[in-house]
Amino acid sequence: MGPPGAGKGTQAILICKEYGIPQISTGEILRAAVKNGTEMGIKAREFMDAGKLVTDEIVIGIVHDRIQEADCKSGYILDGFPRTTPQAEALDKMLAQMGQKLDVALNLDVADEELVKRLLERAKKDGRADDTEPVIKERLVTYNNQTRPLIEYYEKQGILKNVNGLGSMEEITVRLRAALD
Ligand code: AMP
Repeated sequence: MGPPGAGKGTQAILICKEYGIPQISTGEILRAAVKNGTEMGIKAREFMDAGKLVTDEIVIGIVHDRIQEADCKSGYILDGFPRTTPQAEALDKMLAQMGQKLDVALNLDVADEELVKRLLERAKKDGRADDTEPVIKERLVTYNNQTRPLIEYYEKQGILKNVNGLGSMEEITVRLRAALD
């Protein structure tokens, strides 16, 4: 978990490579659906372009199907999911049905000013449609209103680990690995 621009995607890729498990990014799955013009992509696009969250129903469906695939047997990292309390509750329920549970919720901590700076830099590099300044601001508002409460949700479950997200990519990977191990 972590606000937009915290480095979730970058770090998830590195950690997954190291542990030999898949990275499941709902944002990436949605971007692919938008690109391919699927029914789901058409539904998701307007929310994404506005910096708002796609409906819980859509993303819960994505994760529900994805985590049952064979490559998820030895574990996986969910990147950018859950983002709302109903999503977290749905995840707990589907994991319980599969006889699984979350081991850890990693939260990357980064101050807002730093996030805007990083996202504007990414905009130049990746050309993501939602990395423009007004949409970035909206994504931060969305994060603070809808996703931040999940920190407490996982703290109550006793599986939250806060990791300082300020520093070089390598420094942050070291911190995440320490938290995981
Ligand atoms: P991300 O790549 O994680 O920054 O996600 C990009 C965009 O995809 C978000 O701003 C949302 O519009 C949408 N999205 C990704 N994951 C979720 C989720 N778990 N719930 C709702 N919307 C999501």
